[in-house]
Amino acid sequence: MKAEAEGIVSDEVRKRYNLGTHANPVFGEMYRRPATAAGAAIWAGEHLKDGGVLYSPAGGTHHGMPDHANGFCYFNDPVLAILAMREYGVRRIAYIDIDAHHPDGVEHAFATDPEVLMISVHEERRWPFKGHLEDRGVGSVFNLPVPRGFNDTEMEAIREELILPLVQAFRPEAIILQCGADAVTEDPLSRLMLSNNAHWAIVDALNGMAPRYLVLGGGGYNPWSVGRLWTGVWGTLLKREIPERLASEAEAILRQLSWPGRAAGRNPPEHWFTTLRDAPREGEFRTDVHGRLDALCARLKAWT
Ligand SMILES: [Zn+2]
Repeated sequence: MKAEAEGIVSDEVRKRYNLGTHANPVFGEMYRRPATAAGAAIWAGEHLKDGGVLYSPAGGTHHGMPDHANGFCYFNDPVLAILAMREYGVRRIAYIDIDAHHPDGVEHAFATDPEVLMISVHEERRWPFKGHLEDRGVGSVFNLPVPRGFNDTEMEAIREELILPLVQAFRPEAIILQCGADAVTEDPLSRLMLSNNAHWAIVDALNGMAPRYLVLGGGGYNPWSVGRLWTGVWGTLLKREIPERLASEAEAILRQLSWPGRAAGRNPPEHWFTTLRDAPREGEFRTDVHGRLDALCARLKAWT
């Protein structure tokens, strides 16, 4: 709050809280913006006490650490959501994270908690360079790093063979999905090649597997792909059909977006304005992805 009010931090504060750095800059809403998402997460814990579905697209800041900012995450709203649910007696919580980056802050908080199932699918050899296949925590941590070019076919196999069976076996009282939008082809920060269909299929498949369901946003650095993906999440949760062509009001909003400093922002393709759904990006189910999935499936078998 002080850094936001003053617009500057001392060297001491920078060192102690990791604020005013390249990754966690001082900016005009640096407290209010993440605090709003954190407040939503805490409120979700209360609001979901008797069950329901909530969507908090401003949330999903999964890198935040207990005493310092990390990776443009000033607070860790997924952790706060889990803690808030616990306040209302919810014990078994499944946390699934399909952002391109590994949720190091959430794993830091709950890797030793057998009542939190953690599943993360993220790009290998990418910041924060955590989330290895071998990591287990106390046995409830499942990390699946994936190579460049990760496609819809591979994600479908992971969804059907790992994510859904694990969640089912765990019998959670609540599910939290971090649905970061940075694993699609159009995103500049990853080299993964999903279409937004992959995200929506997971959003839909998890819906109803537990009495409480909280869907969060996360990363996403192309304003068009983020807006289209997360709007589609909303429609999917509401069981609405995704239209082939957007209504003119929606199209007008997409046409008003800008993306300064990016080549793709100067000449965006027409379908970024007129549709929500990407064309599917199916591809080869590569042996290295297959092998890693098999390794985790073996753990799932031993676990159930
Ligand atoms: Zn990310």
